[in-house]
Amino acid sequence: MKEMLEGLMQDDFPLTLNHIRRRLAGYNHGAKVVTLAADESSVYQATHAEVSERVDRLARALLALGIEQGDRVGTFAWNNQRHFELYFAVPCIGAVLHTLNIRLFEEQLTYIVNHAEDRVVFVDESLVPALAKLAPTFDGVEHYVVMGDGELAREEIDQLPGALLYEDLLEQAGPGEFDYPDLDERQAASLCYTSGTTGNPKGVLYSHRSISLHTTVTLARDGTGLSRADRILAVVPMFHVNAWGLPYGAALAGADLILPDRYLAPEPLAGLIASERATMVGCVPTIFLALLRYADEHPEVDLSSLSNAACGGSAVPRQLMKDFEERHDVRIFQAWGMTETSPVATYARPRERQHDDSYWDERAMQGRPLPWVELRLADGGGEVPWDGASTGEIEVRGPWVASRYFADSSEDEKFATGWLRTGDIASVDERGTVHITDRSKDVIKSGGEWISSVELENELMAHPDVVEAAVIAKPDERWAERPLCCVVLREQAATTAPDLVEHLRGRVARWWLPDEFAFVAEIPKTSVGKFDKKVLRGRLAEGTLEGRVLVS
Ligand code: AMP
Repeated sequence: MKEMLEGLMQDDFPLTLNHIRRRLAGYNHGAKVVTLAADESSVYQATHAEVSERVDRLARALLALGIEQGDRVGTFAWNNQRHFELYFAVPCIGAVLHTLNIRLFEEQLTYIVNHAEDRVVFVDESLVPALAKLAPTFDGVEHYVVMGDGELAREEIDQLPGALLYEDLLEQAGPGEFDYPDLDERQAASLCYTSGTTGNPKGVLYSHRSISLHTTVTLARDGTGLSRADRILAVVPMFHVNAWGLPYGAALAGADLILPDRYLAPEPLAGLIASERATMVGCVPTIFLALLRYADEHPEVDLSSLSNAACGGSAVPRQLMKDFEERHDVRIFQAWGMTETSPVATYARPRERQHDDSYWDERAMQGRPLPWVELRLADGGGEVPWDGASTGEIEVRGPWVASRYFADSSEDEKFATGWLRTGDIASVDERGTVHITDRSKDVIKSGGEWISSVELENELMAHPDVVEAAVIAKPDERWAERPLCCVVLREQAATTAPDLVEHLRGRVARWWLPDEFAFVAEIPKTSVGKFDKKVLRGRLAEGTLEGRVLVS
């Protein structure tokens, strides 16, 4: 056998965040990071070069705190410039950025801080009271570093034992370039726990290589298409899967990054879009639904700078995309993924340009796998054909897909074959377009056949009086399960359950037509803003689900 002929390229050039960091000062001339300030109307901002100078100081400060390679550094923070600085300083010295989901239950936060063995936690001033309550339950945290501009009095900051101030640390660290260590691209860079699974949250440990490749590919036109001409508003939280990679994307592309801090209501967001002339936005459907309602009710709101948006985290209602495009000229593109896939795995950029039904059908799907993501549908050991109708569980593999969970000795069967079992049920058509019908734990099996809760929700939310809809299974003697549609109606709407059934007739199979609705004031949301069907199922089981109406 002949010997392998090696390519003669710089194949040992490491794919690390140090490259993206170097671009901040070296390549991104004029690009900015803009954050909404505490008065909710003004902003503070810095150029990427200024941010880079502060990242150097922060790197020195981390070493002074005794942080070493591989140590976990927690953040308890909203989307703001200081959090962005930590996104670089921590991984670029070889430590691991552990973004804590501030909305997790208290016992889950205690669990993940202790499980990750966080040595330092950086916390926003506005979140000090919430963290202070938990501090006594953390085993190994040696320092708390408080970030802010002096909103809190010293005695409030001192609720955290031995709290240090971020700006003091940067001041003490002094100016000048920091000499970053050479890193291996396989080294861990950041850690994000997912609570989607049963039992304790599980840690997904991203590497420099996985983040570098994910960031690069999401920038392609078949992904977010984010370019240096953009001003991207990242609403998706920086504590959830690296805000879908948008902060790293902005740094790699040299785009302006706009951050809303803790202000996620439609009014400040719309104001920020208008005043900063954001060209792109990334957020979950529930935020878009609220923004659409707000924009419709306030015709003076100027969203004209926005041209495109990335949306995912749960199925994006077709009507939401249509309304935004037709009424506000904003094209929302749907992405699918999960914490274990960094998160973006598929992106929906349709080929067709004419806006007929088939175009909207494609827009309402989850899109095609990004380059380097391989996907298949599995059903009881066999592979399901890509015929646009047969469904199975999505399995994926690729360079930004988790191979196992952090510090978890259980042999989780979802990684057993080298493909990640996602728990999402979908069909795939001959173009490779994925269409998610359900999360496996949300499926409704009625008389032996599947009813897609996602499809029913989509069609219900296409009704002009329906603001939100979440469909769950209710036990049924005859059919095993039937769909129960939990619906939030527009204020003062007089729409009834039979009206909604009429609306659905012809849009879904006859046997899918629901026989029960629950008119609720609000659909409960998860810590990352998705409809929380677990809570609805719990209320149904306890008999506390309000507004139930049977359709005869
Ligand atoms: P998380 O790990 O919290 O980001 O949740 C990941 C899960 O969100 C996926 O496994 C899906 O069930 C759901 N999800 C994400 N994006 C979409 C989408 N575009 N359509 C439907 N479900 C989605």
